[in-house]
Amino acid sequence: MTTSAVMQNRVLLLNGSTWEPLAVITVSRAINLLLAGKATVVEETGDVLRTMRDYFAIPSVIALKTYINVPRRKAHWSRKGVLVRDNYTCVYCGVKPGAVQKDKVLSRSDMTIDHIIPRSKGGKDTWTNTACACASCNHRKGDRLPNEAGLKLRWEPKTPRTSYLVIALGTGPSAWRRYIEV
Ligand SMILES: [Zn+2]
Repeated sequence: MTTSAVMQNRVLLLNGSTWEPLAVITVSRAINLLLAGKATVVEETGDVLRTMRDYFAIPSVIALKTYINVPRRKAHWSRKGVLVRDNYTCVYCGVKPGAVQKDKVLSRSDMTIDHIIPRSKGGKDTWTNTACACASCNHRKGDRLPNEAGLKLRWEPKTPRTSYLVIALGTGPSAWRRYIEV
């Protein structure tokens, strides 16, 4: 890997002691924090950055050595955020883009947002009331509750820690997932 490609990687920064995600930062900022003794490596990418004098294992996740007090930002609900949170996977049948359904290869644009309690019954646009669903399951469910339609949730939809990090997760390495999910 070239130096410039390595430097384009992004690093997930966690808070000290709680390991709550704080931000997505550049490799150079992460290395600066590590060199200053302010952070420790939690996960490595496996890539190495060589300089004239030294080499560094490129981190994927680092944590501050001390806890910093930051106000909790509430995650703003969005359709895109729900799809990314659920990794574009149907909460009812588990299909995801790339799978074949009714002789068609599913793409991300085939995945829809299902309101678990339908909007017609007062269900809101919230993180815990919405999940990714394939068009087929969404159609089958219609205006009913999952159990009324004979459907089961494969996981419980949760509120992510920050909407910014949910979007970052969509493009970030899978190693970040366990640190971002609540
Ligand atoms: Zn489905």
